[in-house]
Amino acid sequence: MILKDYAVVLKTFDYSESSIIAVFLTRRHGKIRVLAKGAKRKKNGISGSFMTGNICEIVFYSNVGRGLQILKEIDCRSSFDDAGKDLKRLSIFQAALEVVDRSVIEQETDEGIFNLVENFFALLPVVADPWAAFFAFETKLLKLTGFFPSILKCDRCGKILAGGGFGINSSNWQVRCEKCITEGMVLISVSASSILIDMENRPMNDIINLKLDRKDRREIGRFLHEIFRAHVEGYKLPSSLGLLKGVN
Ligand SMILES: [Zn+2]
Repeated sequence: MILKDYAVVLKTFDYSESSIIAVFLTRRHGKIRVLAKGAKRKKNGISGSFMTGNICEIVFYSNVGRGLQILKEIDCRSSFDDAGKDLKRLSIFQAALEVVDRSVIEQETDEGIFNLVENFFALLPVVADPWAAFFAFETKLLKLTGFFPSILKCDRCGKILAGGGFGINSSNWQVRCEKCITEGMVLISVSASSILIDMENRPMNDIINLKLDRKDRREIGRFLHEIFRAHVEGYKLPSSLGLLKGVN
C-alpha cells in the first residue's frame, strides 16, 4: 500500500553506505521506521531532508506486518533553523524529540501527539522561557499518553490541591496535601503546583510569557522526569539536556 502523510524526523541511523533508516512521527500513522534508499547520495537531492526535527511530507510503501517501511518521496516544509543560534532552545528542541521517541510506541496513532509536537515547535522560538515550553509540552504529552497522574485532590483527606503545595509518591502515584505528606514523597511547592495545574489544564500557548524561577524549574522538571521514568522503560534524561548542565 502506498501512503502519504506529514511526518517529523525523530532520529536517523546508517543502514548501508548509501541508505539510512529514519524514525518518523507521522500525523496519521503514528511512529514509523522507514528505509530511505540512496538517502546519503548527494545527487539524490534529499540528503538534507533528514535533519532531526524537520517536518516533511512523505510518501511510503507500507506493510503493516513489517517493522520497516520503504520511503518513496520526501519533501520538507520546515526545520528549526531559526533557533540555531540559541543553544538552550536548540537543546530543548532536541530533548523534546528524544522524549517523543522514547515515550511514543510504534503504531500508536494519536493525531494529537503530532499536533502537539507541531504546536511546540512553533512556540519554542518565541516563548520567554524555553523551559516553561518544554515542561508544558511534557505535561501535555503525558496527558495524551495517559500517564499524567491526577493532581486534583489529596487521596487521604480529599482536600482540593489547587492553591496549595503537594507531595507525590513516585512508586504508586499517591498524591497528598501539605498536611498529609509522608516521608519520601516528591515535594511540590505552592508556586510550582499552580504552574503544573495550569500546564495540565490550559492551552500550551498560555505559557508564552511565563518565566520559571530556579526553584520552580527544578521541582517541575523533577516531577515530570519521575513520571516518565516510572512509565517508560529505560527512560533517562534526554542527552541533549546534558549540554546545558554547564550553562545552568
Ligand atoms: Zn490531605
